[in-house]
Amino acid sequence: MTISSPISRLKGVGPTLEKSLNSMGIKNIADLLNHFPRKWETYQSINRIQDIKPGLVSFEAKVENIAMRRSNRHKRLTITEAILSDDTGTVRAVWFNQPYLSQTLLKGKIYRFRGNYEYKNGYVSLAAPSFEKPGTNVNKEDIITIYPETKKITSTIIRKLISQCLDYTNQLEDILPEEISQTHKLIPIDKAIKFLHQPKDFKELELAKRRISFEEMFELILTGLVIKQNIKTSPSVEIKYDPKFAKKFVGLLDFELTSAQKKAAHTILEDVDSDKPMNRMLEGDVGSGKTLVALMAAAMAYNSGYQSVIMVPTEILARQHFIGAEKLLSKLGIKVGLLISALKKSEREELKDKIRSGELDCIIGTHALISKDIEYQKLGLVVVDEQHRFGVNQRSTLKGKAKYMPHVLTMTATPIPRSLALVVYGDLDVSIIDELPPGRKPIQTKLVKEIDRVHVYSLIDSLIAKRQQVYIVCPLISESDKLGVKSVEAEYKTLQKTVFKHRKIGMVHGKLKAEEKSRIMDDFKSGKLDMLLATSVIEVGVDVPNATIMIIEGAERFGLAALHQLRGRVGRGEMQSHCYLFSDSENPATIKRLKALENTNDGFRLAQIDLELRGPGEIYGTMQSGILDLRVADIYDHKLISEVKQAAETFINKHNLLEYAQLAEKINRLKSITTLD
Ligand code: ADP
Ligand code: MG
Repeated sequence: MTISSPISRLKGVGPTLEKSLNSMGIKNIADLLNHFPRKWETYQSINRIQDIKPGLVSFEAKVENIAMRRSNRHKRLTITEAILSDDTGTVRAVWFNQPYLSQTLLKGKIYRFRGNYEYKNGYVSLAAPSFEKPGTNVNKEDIITIYPETKKITSTIIRKLISQCLDYTNQLEDILPEEISQTHKLIPIDKAIKFLHQPKDFKELELAKRRISFEEMFELILTGLVIKQNIKTSPSVEIKYDPKFAKKFVGLLDFELTSAQKKAAHTILEDVDSDKPMNRMLEGDVGSGKTLVALMAAAMAYNSGYQSVIMVPTEILARQHFIGAEKLLSKLGIKVGLLISALKKSEREELKDKIRSGELDCIIGTHALISKDIEYQKLGLVVVDEQHRFGVNQRSTLKGKAKYMPHVLTMTATPIPRSLALVVYGDLDVSIIDELPPGRKPIQTKLVKEIDRVHVYSLIDSLIAKRQQVYIVCPLISESDKLGVKSVEAEYKTLQKTVFKHRKIGMVHGKLKAEEKSRIMDDFKSGKLDMLLATSVIEVGVDVPNATIMIIEGAERFGLAALHQLRGRVGRGEMQSHCYLFSDSENPATIKRLKALENTNDGFRLAQIDLELRGPGEIYGTMQSGILDLRVADIYDHKLISEVKQAAETFINKHNLLEYAQLAEKINRLKSITTLD
């Protein structure tokens, strides 16, 4: 037998079990060895029954009573029940299909029991505990492996199968270069896999975890570095830093740049003044002034004779950015264009000509900006705003268009903690704006229930009377059979007919035509509407400083990051803003999540909380399509991350990856996942 033998070769694996294992992706011995435990548990050693908490427990107790019976429903099933007691209380233990127990466990005698104390079918009981004579030398440190389970495949089954495979771990290939293992004192992979599945003690487990985490992190970080290296080898164009022009730009503003903005701008302008392409991510909370920093770079590109492009996710945003950018940039003689799909064919052709001839200096739009038919005269800078990650394919599209690699600046308001950014965005340099412009009043957020609605509505009405404006966000566009979930269309009808019939209400959602959407947005912006009902289409970037209240219906249906983004639509002016989160959820985890918004306005803090509550997989899962497949490594292990980062940097500077065939292959595979196109 070898590690590539099918699992059907193992004892106890018949066709049914084989099928279930296959459906979990376990086909051969190697797959099984790579099926890692989800957690490792030890028994809580309990002295008294009254202290028992759910989970794995171990304690001494007397058998008060023990009896076996047959199940009423399943005739073949036997149930053995015992009542165990000590001075402090009693507890019930249950075994299935072990009828002999009523003979082996003796009434009136004391034993040491170990098992899972759990709630099941309406009872709390000790499930099938093991037992031994008291005083036997029990090893409290025994580590129990818990695997990802399905209904059919329990940890017990996996453990039994794995025991049969551990002799084959020496056939596993060690991907980590020898040199790395030595320098960083990592145990070999065969030992690590053995220890991971059957650790004798915590020391072994730690050694195994360290070895495997190291490899997981090393591969991810190395992949980022390889991509980064590849990008840097393509030539770019130098956007010369002109301090006089920078001063002129800043002089146009009626405010001072924050010091975080200055620092970010400085780094970016330094980056682009080089024939190596910039590949930088600018992270900053909503309203922290990222766009302004990007516009400064665009202006500098113009000053150096290059065009720039600002790519945003929606047409609403493109229009809005266009208005803001043109107002500012035209004062410097910069010609700004807007490319959106709503253009007539002739308009689009005209715009294309102006882009090709270089008549336009800065072009704002959606993804259409990099579509095949758009040619640039001299593209120097690409700014990608929100949501989209710029992948290798898009970059090579650009390179094809420009004959060199333009500088790329990605902006995001979804803050990612630095340690995570290092792993997920290893191919990017990161700048962070961690400061809001002065004078902003923090938004006051409140989690409210249905019974508070009357109160909230009357407050809104009094503020509308003072000419302030309101957003109401609903999770759905139209009514569905999902009971109690509010939809934009239904709310629109109801509010118009009832509480707010004396107010002007508009609605926007994804099903409306682009022109209609922007007409309604314009009406809201100009104050023709008091209230705007919307789905989360208004999530990013929409800027109406006079809007001071946001209501979010069914708040539990949104993620923390989305709620924070939505909330960022208010609090953009001088007035105090409020956000009301409606939720009647009773789920403690949900309430905790929503309460976090009450307590902080700091997007980075919220991102951290979100990560802690849901884990990186759930948040970045879809975005990363599997790259954050860290099965053992802990994304918060800063110490390990910086150790691995250093190892990866040293390695790539010293060696040619191609000399390490298996590692190279793995990196190539990861590369195609990391670059999400
Ligand atoms: P972001 O893109 O980070 O969400 P923006 O660049 O759109 O933020 O800025 C939000 C608002 O704040 C804009 O109206 C902008 O003009 C203004 N702003 C930007 N920087 C400053 C600053 N340093 N002081 C005051 N207001 C600023
Ligand atoms: Mg923005």
